[in-house]
Amino acid sequence: MNAPQPKSWIMDIAPYVPGRSTSDSGAPVVKLSSNENPLGTSPQAEAAFVAHVGDLARYPDAGAAVLREAIAAHHELDPARVIYGTGSDEILHLIAGAYAGPGDEVIQVRYGFAVYEIATRRVGATLVIADDRDHATDVDAILAAVTDRTRIVFVANPNNPTGTYAPAREIARLHAGLPPHVMLVLDQAYAEYLLPEEDDGGLELARTQANVLVTRTFSKIHGLAAERIGWGYGSAHAIAAMHRIRAPFCCTTAGQEAAVAALGAADFIAASREHNRVWRAWFNDEIAKLGNAGLRAVPSAANFVLVLFDGAVSAETAYKALMERGYIVRWLPGQGLGNGLRITIGTEKETRGVMAALREIVA
Ligand SMILES: *Cc1c(COP(=O)(O)O)cnc(C)c1O
Repeated sequence: MNAPQPKSWIMDIAPYVPGRSTSDSGAPVVKLSSNENPLGTSPQAEAAFVAHVGDLARYPDAGAAVLREAIAAHHELDPARVIYGTGSDEILHLIAGAYAGPGDEVIQVRYGFAVYEIATRRVGATLVIADDRDHATDVDAILAAVTDRTRIVFVANPNNPTGTYAPAREIARLHAGLPPHVMLVLDQAYAEYLLPEEDDGGLELARTQANVLVTRTFSKIHGLAAERIGWGYGSAHAIAAMHRIRAPFCCTTAGQEAAVAALGAADFIAASREHNRVWRAWFNDEIAKLGNAGLRAVPSAANFVLVLFDGAVSAETAYKALMERGYIVRWLPGQGLGNGLRITIGTEKETRGVMAALREIVA
């Protein structure tokens, strides 16, 4: 063993598998595998992005002052307590890096976002899985999994890959049941798809509680996935810890400006939310009609639906057959969902198309 060796816990990490964007044959495909906004991004964000082509030689604002002010104004937060990163993925790594290490435990739900496991293992901590309740977050199971060694609980709400949603009273109960030394990370990547009355109370907890961090992203409803802009809100102490380990220039200039403009694109956000509600409802109704073929949609509050296959046609067969017909969806055997396909709600044409293909496949 003369060659340098990576830490043992690093080699135990299963590499992240992104949603595919090309088919096996290389033929053009409809990509419904990464929960991107089918309407693209707002004209405001696009204009802000192209306006910064003259700034390529300069480093971006390391303090992201304009972006932090805009986020704080939009959500009535303290700009000094907004952390930002290369996607919210980076924020998830920062919180793990600041609060967990070898010997510590980090809890996630059984069907959780894949980055939590990577962020946990990266720092040498131990991942603890809390059982689900029919694919949904089970607060009692999470609380039962807490030990003296627990440092972080990761909960995405709505959750990915299940789409399930825990209402405000459940999130409040989860927080109330956690010991104060445990950091509750509420990943709200899909929060903008909820109606205001469906707010899970996470930001209010983050405003007032030392052990709550909320994360958000510009990758989903704002349609800026290519620019990698995420943010988080927590106590001044937690934010100060994360700043010490983040990449100094983590958010590009054009990305910061596009994100600021995106926050102001209220019409685009509302139209995206409405489009998603209409076509998710239609999608669910159509899946219900395929119940006799063993298909079932897990109730979703996000911009995708997890479809379970318990009939003659398996999820794997359907995944491959959809690919042949030009639709890439997400099959997640690596996350314990060998019987499920996660399908992003696309444009009307894409959504009708993937459903027609599914009907053919299970007929
Ligand atoms: C998409 C997603 C994110 C992060 O996306 P970024 O592009 O890194 O901001 C975080 N959490 C969940 C649950 C997601 O689905």
